[in-house]
Amino acid sequence: MNKKYRKTVIAGNWKMNMTASAVKPFIEELKAELPKTKTCETVLCVPGVIIPAMLRSGKDAKIGVGGQDVSKYEKGAYTGEVSAEMLEDLGVKYCIVGHSERREYHNESDFLVNEKAKALLAHNITPIICVGESLEQREMGLTMDYITYQVKAALSDINEAQVRKCIIAYEPIWAIGTGKTATAEQAQEVCKGIRAILREKYGARLARSVTIQYGGSMNAKNAEELLAQPDIDGGLIGGASLKPKDFAAIVKATAQE
Ligand code: PEP
Repeated sequence: MNKKYRKTVIAGNWKMNMTASAVKPFIEELKAELPKTKTCETVLCVPGVIIPAMLRSGKDAKIGVGGQDVSKYEKGAYTGEVSAEMLEDLGVKYCIVGHSERREYHNESDFLVNEKAKALLAHNITPIICVGESLEQREMGLTMDYITYQVKAALSDINEAQVRKCIIAYEPIWAIGTGKTATAEQAQEVCKGIRAILREKYGARLARSVTIQYGGSMNAKNAEELLAQPDIDGGLIGGASLKPKDFAAIVKATAQE
């Protein structure tokens, strides 16, 4: 499959780290390190309260800004929630949904992930839909069965025009924040499998245009090999996105694709 049909996207996930006042110095350091690239989009998904600061500082460095979660509801009496309309109004272009930490600590179901993805699409925001198996599932040989179920559930009632806007992030749970990266072969095998699911549901033309990321302890050292795989079109980066030099090195690694 030819990568020229899809965007390469390196997205950082700051999780619940950093503060609004840390954004400006971070972006200044990042900007000095980032390569000039027309082929890779660089995004930082930050906590909601940090989004305005990131939009201000990131603009100059051509950093896309993303949220880390969204409400499935349009508006109303949902204390503590942030709607897709609010994110759109700020100028947010991406938002993570279904991260394994939200699935685990907030009991988010595949059904809810699908509703959140649809809420974002209705407001022109690209959902970065996370899927990934546990170590137990991998060891039982259930990886592709589980990923197939998750991808199909997340894309339920999402049409062809909408799926073009989606990013799927393959994040094996056992590799997130553990320092254990999937091998390039393991990551490629699952990302290829995800593209096959897309092909079956939406056809070959559409499947080749969807960006599929790998996430799970991606860093400056292993990024090049992972990003060189034919079905890996970028990364979702946790820990390494908190260090400007390391994050920039991952963006640089996309130039080797
Ligand atoms: C993540 O949280 O999405 C992630 C991939 O984290 P890390 O890079 O730290 O494993």
